[in-house]
Amino acid sequence: MLTDMQIAVIGGDARQLEIIRKLTELDAKLSLIGFEQLDHAFTGAAKVKISEVDFSHIDSLILPVSGTSLEGQVDTVFSNEKVFLLEELIAQTPSHCVVYTGISNPYLNGIVERSNRRLVPIFNRDDVAIYNSIPTVEGTIMLAIQHTDFTIHGSNVMVLGLGRVGMSVARTFAALGAKVTVGARKTEHFARITEMGLTPFHLDELTNWVKDIDICINTIPHHIVTAAVISKMPAHTLIIDLASKPGGTDFRYAEKRGVKALLAPSLPGIVAPKTAGNIIANVLSQLLQGDFDRRKESKA
Ligand code: NAP
Repeated sequence: MLTDMQIAVIGGDARQLEIIRKLTELDAKLSLIGFEQLDHAFTGAAKVKISEVDFSHIDSLILPVSGTSLEGQVDTVFSNEKVFLLEELIAQTPSHCVVYTGISNPYLNGIVERSNRRLVPIFNRDDVAIYNSIPTVEGTIMLAIQHTDFTIHGSNVMVLGLGRVGMSVARTFAALGAKVTVGARKTEHFARITEMGLTPFHLDELTNWVKDIDICINTIPHHIVTAAVISKMPAHTLIIDLASKPGGTDFRYAEKRGVKALLAPSLPGIVAPKTAGNIIANVLSQLLQGDFDRRKESKA
């Protein structure tokens, strides 16, 4: 139980509702910032503005999966107000305060480090990223169906990257009957792709492999689907870019060439917010319980 632990939940989408539900069940006291348009009320959770929170009593801050922008803005689906996480707010928290986020960036790293607090980007954990790849793949299939006039079965699908998302995407599209090629750069990845019954190629040769693809799914968070690559694709190719913003695709050139390219962030929050929220809530509640127990021991 997290009885009387004071937690500020700042912004986010429907996934945060599962987190709020779980933490209120565990008896934590929650300040919900950026939720004033949410109809539902939770016992033990108060909807407040960021200016109303006394950060000197906050034991933990919970940010959405996307963390903050590079300017410190936090996405708030349930609010029209702009919410910014500023360094001065973190500095007001007690020294034991931990900041939890999905992913981080130089802005967030900087303000937390300068305030001498601990930052935990939970999507760095393999378990969270692998569980989360399940709703991500389902969302990718949804987009592929919505934006093409041909079946996935029998189509030429290229997956870029064999990380936690890339592996799940490649395996599932192959299971649906697609002919899957996977671009990677490590010898162990080529071996794994071959073991999975798929066709590997080196990313250095990307332009040579795109000539007859129907769908290109990028999971690499670097500029990889360049204008030179897009210029070699058939005009009907659908690009689905799953990599975190800004993605790895030259969207300007794709539009100019008439190739449909979708930047598709936060698919778990769109197609399965309950499952995706539960994945995060389960890990967060364990981590918060650890913080809580350690503080109790150090006080005793
Ligand atoms: P990951 O496990 O770290 O995999 C990243 C992959 O990209 C690896 O195969 C890695 O290969 C490759 N890579 C990284 N930098 C590269 C470079 N400069 N050149 C070539 N290859 C490179 O990450 P993940 O968990 O699969 O997530 C992938 C991306 O999807 C992230 O941006 C994540 O935020 C995003 N994501 C999006 C959604 C969504 O809904 N759209 C959901 C979940 C995750 P090496 O091993 O060779 O470095």
